[in-house]
Amino acid sequence: MTAERTLLADADRRALAYLDGSASRRVFPDATAIAALQGFQQSLPAGGQNPAEVLRQLDELGSPATVTSNGARYFGFVIGATLPAAAAAERLVLAWDQCASSFDNSPVADHLENLAGRWVCQALGLPAQSAVGFGTSATACTLACLSAARRSLLARLGWDFDNDGLMGAPEIRVVLSETAHITVKKALRILGFGMNRLIYAPADEHGRIDPARLPALDNRTLLILQAGEVNTGEFDPFAELMPTARAAGAWVHVDGAFGLWARASSSATLAAGIEQADSWTTDGHKWLNTPYDSAMAICRDADALAAAMNSDAAYATASKDAQKNLTLEFSRRARGVAIWAALASLGQDGLREMIDRHIRQAGTLADALREGGYQVLNRVRLNQVLVRADSDEQTVAIREAAQASGEVWFGPTIWQGRPAFRLSVSSWRTSDADIQALAELLLRLKRQIAA
Ligand SMILES: *Cc1c(COP(=O)(O)O)cnc(C)c1O
Repeated sequence: MTAERTLLADADRRALAYLDGSASRRVFPDATAIAALQGFQQSLPAGGQNPAEVLRQLDELGSPATVTSNGARYFGFVIGATLPAAAAAERLVLAWDQCASSFDNSPVADHLENLAGRWVCQALGLPAQSAVGFGTSATACTLACLSAARRSLLARLGWDFDNDGLMGAPEIRVVLSETAHITVKKALRILGFGMNRLIYAPADEHGRIDPARLPALDNRTLLILQAGEVNTGEFDPFAELMPTARAAGAWVHVDGAFGLWARASSSATLAAGIEQADSWTTDGHKWLNTPYDSAMAICRDADALAAAMNSDAAYATASKDAQKNLTLEFSRRARGVAIWAALASLGQDGLREMIDRHIRQAGTLADALREGGYQVLNRVRLNQVLVRADSDEQTVAIREAAQASGEVWFGPTIWQGRPAFRLSVSSWRTSDADIQALAELLLRLKRQIAA
């Protein structure tokens, strides 16, 4: 074997050993593993090290200090694991090392990302002709969609955004939920929509926009809706809001980072009407269980996204559906290939079964916790369970004890001004036994801490 082959075989062996150890590894590393990261601390070596030694150090010091989010008992955020087909595709794509910007740089990436885009629209019940850009994150994809939205709204008002910019342009009003995700606000801030100028739509007790209190919309409004509020997993009432937005001539963007996948499940009616929006953002690396960084910017008017993201140059022209003309990146990884592989291996049925299973498991978990004396604060229609114990002190103490146990991990939140914790079910590896073990741990900790 050449040195390169020996090295890569060693990496594969170590990667498989890491995966084999996932079931017994702590979900969050202990203090010893974190302290051992100091072993990496040295100045940039003048002479290079042997690559085999670099890999050994990475595995021996690095692997124990990972969070086992690619496991069965990680319930923080909506992180998901990586499906075997997606992980395998990722390894092959790494060997290909394609610059997946356009057909000229990679015919296979161009072809598969195009196909993956069509499959995503089909799986989510979104308009088939939509453009799909595979970007690094929901944050980056929201930025791409919102820039297409602003450019289009201004064009309808007779303003040439590309050439005349924002100085003197008609003001675009932004209406968004008071529960909008922080990354939506980040995208808006980067785009130059000042935080003081945003118009907030009041939310109801479930975290959804209340249609009765929706601010006025017009043809210079960008309305941003949400599929999957981070605490409750609830959806804005699209079926009620969309006709109003359509009649006003507003552009509607939906942040569906994880919640959009409900469209592929038996609970699709939760998001009825969402298909009438103009653009959507979703992640692959959350509920679809693909590797990072994989997200999708989906735009009904394919030309609008292609025009906003165009990066053709004399030496690098491409079709308008080339990924470099649909995303922020020029050089980019063929990240849509892992999405293609995930969808090819699941099929529509397998995708529905996975999402349905997580929704069912969240319901089972909520029932067990309620029976054990916990307060479940949300309706648990999706994969989110928002929980509180008898007092704020108890809620915090239980969450800290669960994190310290290493058996599971989930994070804190503040809901209606008081501490709570969020349990998200989104890993393809999570079995019913894992859910039962989580419930048992939480009931045991509650008894111990109360005593
Ligand atoms: C995670 C999340 C985002 C941001 O997604 P990234 O891929 O991490 O940028 C946006 N909105 C919601 C509702 C999310 O849950």
